[in-house]
Amino acid sequence: MIELEAARARVLEGCAALAPRRVELRDAVGLVLAEAVVADQLLPPFANTAVDGYAVRAAEVAGATPTTPARLAVVETIAAGRAADRPLGPGQAMRIMTGAPIPAGADAVVMVEDTNAVPDGETVEIYRPVSAGDAVRPAGDDVRPGDRLFLPGDVLSAAHIGVLASLGRTDIAAHPRPRVGVISTGDELIEGPIPLQPGQIRDSNRITLLALVEAAGGIGVDLGLVRDDEELIRAAFTEAARGCDAIISSGGVSMGEFDFVKRVLDEVGRMNWMQVAIRPAKPLAFGTIGATPVFGLPGNPVSSMVSFELFARPGLRRLAGHPDGRLVRAPVRATSIDALRRTPDGKTHFVRVVADNVDGRHVVRNAGGQGSHQLAVMAAANALVVLPDGEGVAAGDEVSVLLLG
Ligand code: AMP
Ligand code: MG
Repeated sequence: MIELEAARARVLEGCAALAPRRVELRDAVGLVLAEAVVADQLLPPFANTAVDGYAVRAAEVAGATPTTPARLAVVETIAAGRAADRPLGPGQAMRIMTGAPIPAGADAVVMVEDTNAVPDGETVEIYRPVSAGDAVRPAGDDVRPGDRLFLPGDVLSAAHIGVLASLGRTDIAAHPRPRVGVISTGDELIEGPIPLQPGQIRDSNRITLLALVEAAGGIGVDLGLVRDDEELIRAAFTEAARGCDAIISSGGVSMGEFDFVKRVLDEVGRMNWMQVAIRPAKPLAFGTIGATPVFGLPGNPVSSMVSFELFARPGLRRLAGHPDGRLVRAPVRATSIDALRRTPDGKTHFVRVVADNVDGRHVVRNAGGQGSHQLAVMAAANALVVLPDGEGVAAGDEVSVLLLG
């Protein structure tokens, strides 16, 4: 058996970040940035008002109260999107809307709630004093030219994209989402509502793995269900290696007699056949066809999901350009409400649990049966306890947990 970390290291060696390309901002959320972004302009680009109100000279409204308002002549209205025609003179105010530029000569804005427009239409009464700078958003308050805003490796969030749009950018260099082909193999598999013949089951891995690929930031490419037939399996893998950045298959990597996946992958690719010291998901095939990484995951539904989490997800994240420190989910500490008993077998166990947050602390309880075929338990679970080799833990013990999703 090979230890988890050693097996994962082999996987990561076979996965390199996909070459960056220009991506429209609209398609860039979640992608890993591949350039440094340095600001070349001010944001906001000009001083503007944070409120609807009146642009004034603060000194002229210093003594204003509701009973002794300051009275100023309203000489102009400045809507957002245009600039004042003239500077503000002594004794004057300008009606101004949020986002409109502060006129020259003004140094503060009184919010409209603290004013009264006199019915003559030409005068405003100001009921409260303001200090210079009040309700003014200075130019460059957010971003200044030369600011080093974003670095390669940053994940583009909604806010990142908004900043880039504010700077006038329409596209950005980023690592693309990996296109990941997903294949199911096995003569026992069928799909859809047609009645099961003796010995048949429905393919669940393919749709599950496609969903996991998407959740991991990849593009799932459905490569279908392939019979246990050497020719068909060869055709499926060679085709997939041409059209995809990675391939994930499930089934046929254990010791079964009719597992042609192994024979074909050894012929068309360079593979590592591993027995990893974990449970579930002990068998793992990983290698490359040409430069395309291939993950041969075990067929049991829970095993294929756990194997995806521990091996394929980190590999796909590397393809997507995430730096080394961000490939693997960091475990959190939690209290186990249930005893999680096991027997020593040289393996790390991944126990399906339901994790909750109680008063800011993680607690977990057993999600149910731990068989690698019990997919409904996986559906009920939202986390995996990492249970080191040994006798397990007692109720109330601290455990290390991978929070999924
Ligand atoms: P294998 O790894 O091919 O030996 O399969 C191990 C177990 O997983 C067997 O019980 C298979 O029937 C089951 N299995 C394999 N592929 C799938 C699949 N795509 N969906 C559901 N179960 C599967
Ligand atoms: Mg099989």
